[in-house]
Amino acid sequence: MTTNAQEFARARGAMPGGVNSPVRAFGSVHETPRFFVSASGPYVTDVEGREYVDLVGSWGPAILGHAHPAVVKAVQDAAAHGLGFGASTPGETELAELIAARVSRPSSVVEPVETHPVERVRLVSTGTEATMTAIRLARGATGRDLIVKFAGHYHGHSDGLLAEAGSGVATLAMPGSAGVPAAIAAQTLVIAYNDLDAVREVFAARGDDIAAVIVEAAPANMGIVPPAHGFNAALAEIAHAHGALLILDEVLTGFRVGPAGWYGIDPVLFSPDLITFGKVVGGGLPLAAIGGSAALMELLAPLGPVYQAGTLSGNPLAVAAGRTTLDHLDAAAYARIDGAATTIADAAASALSEAGVTHVVQRSGSLFSIQFAAEAPTDYDTVKAQEAFRYPPFFRAMLAQGVSLPPSVFEAWFVSAAHDDTAVSRIVEALPAAARAAAEATPD
Ligand SMILES: *Cc1c(COP(=O)(O)O)cnc(C)c1O
Repeated sequence: MTTNAQEFARARGAMPGGVNSPVRAFGSVHETPRFFVSASGPYVTDVEGREYVDLVGSWGPAILGHAHPAVVKAVQDAAAHGLGFGASTPGETELAELIAARVSRPSSVVEPVETHPVERVRLVSTGTEATMTAIRLARGATGRDLIVKFAGHYHGHSDGLLAEAGSGVATLAMPGSAGVPAAIAAQTLVIAYNDLDAVREVFAARGDDIAAVIVEAAPANMGIVPPAHGFNAALAEIAHAHGALLILDEVLTGFRVGPAGWYGIDPVLFSPDLITFGKVVGGGLPLAAIGGSAALMELLAPLGPVYQAGTLSGNPLAVAAGRTTLDHLDAAAYARIDGAATTIADAAASALSEAGVTHVVQRSGSLFSIQFAAEAPTDYDTVKAQEAFRYPPFFRAMLAQGVSLPPSVFEAWFVSAAHDDTAVSRIVEALPAAARAAAEATPD
């Protein structure tokens, strides 16, 4: 048997930083990353044979719990029939139909028409590809180049989306990573979240050149920062008034916060033009999707002039995992996730209060995160102003007690339908010691 430390040392000799995605290196929590060998339900087990209650959930996809028997069986059955053909399969159509059918709002007194913003779907392999394609589609549809994004929102790692705010609201952005050409970052305008004045200002200045606004449906990549009431609706209205599109990024929230994603639970009905999905929709395998009206989506090749393709797009194993996951995400599953999330979020808040730690627990549906601030952060600047130094000792205390939290204060806690009373109790019992560790923390 090897140790996590030995595995990490070996990994660093073979892969940059020992990882294939940076947050896995545990850099911001100053801890040795755990190397996992198996997972089941709400638990993960590392190379040392230690079991943890998991609140990462593969960053979302493990919404039914790890290695859900029906999902595993569906993937095994698909594998036995061929790992992929680079050609069409009936399963892809079924998954596309399932996505389109779920993303809707029923007719009601307040909203007298049933809405179906997704009429056509294209399957891709990662969320990064989904947002990248949505942006190309928006540019192709409008004949414009500029994209508006919000500071602190994550849409994957394509060049134009790794941009940081310039000095003024309507100033073109700076590269957010080495290797991003300034000319590409300059096609993105980065503004503060939850700030409609900034949105109006940027459209007043550059409205004729803006192809689309891209927004996380309910931001979860700077910790949880819920949209202000009606924010998404106002955003859609402003964009549409200027002939621009709204790209709703539901890669993280889609099919997690409810059967229709955030679109289904936003308190105010709104009309996104393109919606991106990932994480849950692949059920743990690499699959993501873009959806929208037939008119927009059919601008994609082979029907239209906007090129997009993928060798592994619609891979049968990933499609099987995604379909089976969605099939099992019924009202009862969402109720279990919501219930467990409420118990854990409330227990975290009381443990921190008990220990005298200034905090807020922010929630967007069943997604939540702790922020070490007196006031609820509403945008990236207020998120960054929190006492983030309290998170590493909190995280390490939870890990020492067998609870695997996201290794960064800027990530959501992912609860699954498999988090039963036993798993939830183990988390709740670990919280007081972690809260005391957070109380004793001092700035680095
Ligand atoms: C994870 C994520 C992405 C990127 O998805 P990948 O599959 O990691 O490329 C894009 N947008 C949001 C909101 C995400 O949370």
